[in-house]
Amino acid sequence: MSHSNSEDPKDWAPATQAIRGGLMRSPFGETSEALYLTQSFVYDSAEGADARFAGDDPGFVYSRYANPTVKMFEDRLALLEGAEACRTAASGMAAIFMALNGLVRTGDHILASRALFGSCRWLLTEYFPRFGVETTTVDGPDLAQWEHGFRPNTKVVLIESPANPLLEVVDVAAICQLAHAAGARVVVDNVFATPIFQKPLTLGADIVVYSATKHIDGQGRVMGGAILGPAALLEESYRDLLRHTGPALSPFNAWVLLKGLETLDLRVRRQSDTAARLADLIADSGKARSTRYPLRKDHPQYEVARRQMSGGSNLVAFDLGEAAKAFRFLNALQLIDISNNLGDAKSMAVHPPTTTHRAMAEAERLKIGLTDGWVRLSVGLEDVEDLSRDLSRALALV
Ligand SMILES: *Cc1c(COP(=O)(O)O)cnc(C)c1O
Repeated sequence: MSHSNSEDPKDWAPATQAIRGGLMRSPFGETSEALYLTQSFVYDSAEGADARFAGDDPGFVYSRYANPTVKMFEDRLALLEGAEACRTAASGMAAIFMALNGLVRTGDHILASRALFGSCRWLLTEYFPRFGVETTTVDGPDLAQWEHGFRPNTKVVLIESPANPLLEVVDVAAICQLAHAAGARVVVDNVFATPIFQKPLTLGADIVVYSATKHIDGQGRVMGGAILGPAALLEESYRDLLRHTGPALSPFNAWVLLKGLETLDLRVRRQSDTAARLADLIADSGKARSTRYPLRKDHPQYEVARRQMSGGSNLVAFDLGEAAKAFRFLNALQLIDISNNLGDAKSMAVHPPTTTHRAMAEAERLKIGLTDGWVRLSVGLEDVEDLSRDLSRALALV
């Protein structure tokens, strides 16, 4: 460092943190973050290796443990989230699996909201029971169900808000209070809201998880995931688990995600503005029985959404009444892609009952309100007029 610097990155606005946070320049003084494609590291001497392994010298030893490019991404995302620490994994699911796994033991109970990402549901209903960890689910917005859901052995609460695919909003602060009173920790999957619009840690959550595959990359290129929270909790619950099981994020992917973070604030604010306008267009078309957007006044949990989110997100869900109409709508789109991905620069729409949620038993699907006519739209960065034209044309054919 050649010039003195009294700036504290914690005081920066999110847009600045996402561009400058975590930057570690090499002696070459490159402007852009360096991509350290290396598996391992060398030491000046045997004594140097000894000190590194003893932890007396804080350098790197092996990229399954830590890597400078990955660390820059972790530090940048931690700063943006307002978290003490961040650890990453090769995908969102690897991060969520690790986040849960590190907090439970045989005999523990997990309490979760019913509307969850499909792979999370598999983990909770099929995988963890093999090891004696049981899960029960409740309707996310119903606080009375949460209150009655805790057991003496409940160790973890898992919530997603807004949730996939109908954008159900869960009162994160209220559930954190209940969970902490019951001695449980709260893990929040914050993918849909992004760190720009919702800060679960300030609402009381213990751990925040991301699929960085979504908005953080935001341009459809790489997979990644992150776990954020207090440094001591991450150290105690995840350090050895991550080191010895090896779900490490590749440095290349970390580099792409670092560059993704630089434009995250700009992208999701623009996407959210466009999504709010398109949600109104869909609602006003008269073709949808129901239109869900977290910051529309007719959202069932509008008041909660307004309290805990500073933007509505880039996702809109709407009910066209029956699967045939949803299919006709999707097939009529000329600009918007049919895809199950989300958070991308390209707008994408999907019919969840036959794709992302087809593995869910019909009775379970109905419990989260997912009837056959729902479409989920992930709004991208295209011009709002072009997207409006595409939607209007397809809605007219429904
Ligand atoms: C995509 C997604 C995940 C899983 O992330 P991957 O990167 O695909 O493994 C988890 N939760 C939510 C809400 C998601 O949208």
